[in-house]
Amino acid sequence: RAKANGRGQAIEYDPELDQERQRIAELESLLKNAISSGAIEAVFQPLVSASTGAVTGLEALARWRTEAGNVSPEIFIPLAERCGLIDALGVHMLRTSIEHAKNWPDLALSVNVSPVQLCNPEFAAEVISVLQELDFDPNRLTLEITEGVLMTNPDQARRSIDQLKRVGIKFALDDFGCGYASIGALRQFGFDRMKIDRSLVSALDQGANGADVLRATISLASALKIPVTAEGIENSHQAAILRDAGCDQLQGYLIGKPMSAHDISGKLREDAAA
Ligand code: C2E
Ligand code: MG
Ligand code: MG
Ligand code: MG
Repeated sequence: RAKANGRGQAIEYDPELDQERQRIAELESLLKNAISSGAIEAVFQPLVSASTGAVTGLEALARWRTEAGNVSPEIFIPLAERCGLIDALGVHMLRTSIEHAKNWPDLALSVNVSPVQLCNPEFAAEVISVLQELDFDPNRLTLEITEGVLMTNPDQARRSIDQLKRVGIKFALDDFGCGYASIGALRQFGFDRMKIDRSLVSALDQGANGADVLRATISLASALKIPVTAEGIENSHQAAILRDAGCDQLQGYLIGKPMSAHDISGKLREDAAA
């Protein structure tokens, strides 16, 4: 099974690794086509006011449906980041979600942005030009980012964030509590909102101090006057604790799953009639 390389050393031929590489290469080329043909779609998950239960915003989430089944964003986002497709994917998601959001003029729109995008010096200008072209109010847009970028390239991240905040775009720190992001980062980068990761929310069902951790986290954010969204709420017990702890916005399957633009429009009509 071993074959010799140029320097005469034996290197192991690993058929499984080879297959894996080939699979990734195929997936990359499929993804490239999917992005350019518009096959990556946006679904929308409601963000509701913790006090009234009214839908105040929507988070756009990318979906890739292939003949072989759906590919999770947990797979294709990192893939796009690695193979240089994330900028194209990101702009596509921004465009399609804004086009849909124009049908829901009373609601805010949240779009996820990869750390890799934020580190691209062209990113801010590109976002601003998409907003202008589509005539979308920047004050309605929140960009959700995870903390990774704040560690790897804080200077470029900050330049992008500052430039976009100047035109009225807001920033949410996503998945707070599952990585290294500190309360300090919230302040340092001027985040407008903290999103508590669903792992902290699901911990409420497992043990006694889950609620204490959440309350402490939320009170730190409120000390900085930063409002908090809780993600991944699946039952009313969790919702009650979070509301009580001072969370002002709730999100999760209990409230609404991610839905197609068509289904969101239907839900909004029902809500308005009720
Ligand atoms: P995220 O931004 O933290 O989004 C929340 C994830 O939790 C979504 O998974 C959503 O479907 C899921 N979720 C919401 N409520 C519940 C719940 O009650 N229970 C459970 N178990 N899950 C819930 P999804 O759509 O698979 O996306 C996963 C991640 O992929 C996102 O996490 C985000 O980091 C990334 N992602 C998705 N779309 C995009 C995109 O357009 N651009 C970028 N850069 N990343 C994206
Ligand atoms: Mg998000
Ligand atoms: Mg999140
Ligand atoms: Mg996440």
